Amino acid sequence: MILPVLQYGHPILRQKGARVAAITPNITELIADMLETMYAAAGIGLAAQQVGQALQLTVLDVRGVNDRPSTLELGGQPADASEAMPLVLINPEVKPTGEPVTGPEGCLSFPEIYQDITRLESVEVTALNAKGERIHLKAGGLLARAIQHEVDHLNGILFIDRMSTQAKRALKPQLEALKAATKAALPKG
Ligand code: ZN
Repeated sequence: MILPVLQYGHPILRQKGARVAAITPNITELIADMLETMYAAAGIGLAAQQVGQALQLTVLDVRGVNDRPSTLELGGQPADASEAMPLVLINPEVKPTGEPVTGPEGCLSFPEIYQDITRLESVEVTALNAKGERIHLKAGGLLARAIQHEVDHLNGILFIDRMSTQAKRALKPQLEALKAATKAALPKG
């Protein structure tokens, strides 16, 4: 089922996600719905907060982008990043490493807004996969950027928080309009 993607201004986007205690049928269904929602929106990553669930759960699939390569090591072995997709990360612990690199980013919760963001070039991740198995991976390139973006979501951090002051100032009218529209659509009470 395709779920509505919450947009900037929705309070759940600012909530830190709770750890997923067990891979219940509800969690399995949520993962399937998040993948369907991400593909329908042509995104490369989606965090549970973006579909209204403040949980430590994110899904990614970088295969939709061909001009920005990704690298992957799974369990210490080089792996084909495409074959490993989609990636489901539950309760991820992420250590960004390497040099800072700047590249363009967008976010499904910020339609039409793109900006250069500086992040570290690779990440080391320990997480559970969709089956509840513990996985260790190291990612580089676009996948490293996407993982850092999504794991920020799991902690209530948004890519606007990582923008330069000048970039954020330039986007202020758009951000204020988006926030106002989101708040106007929230149920009252
Ligand atoms: Zn995002």
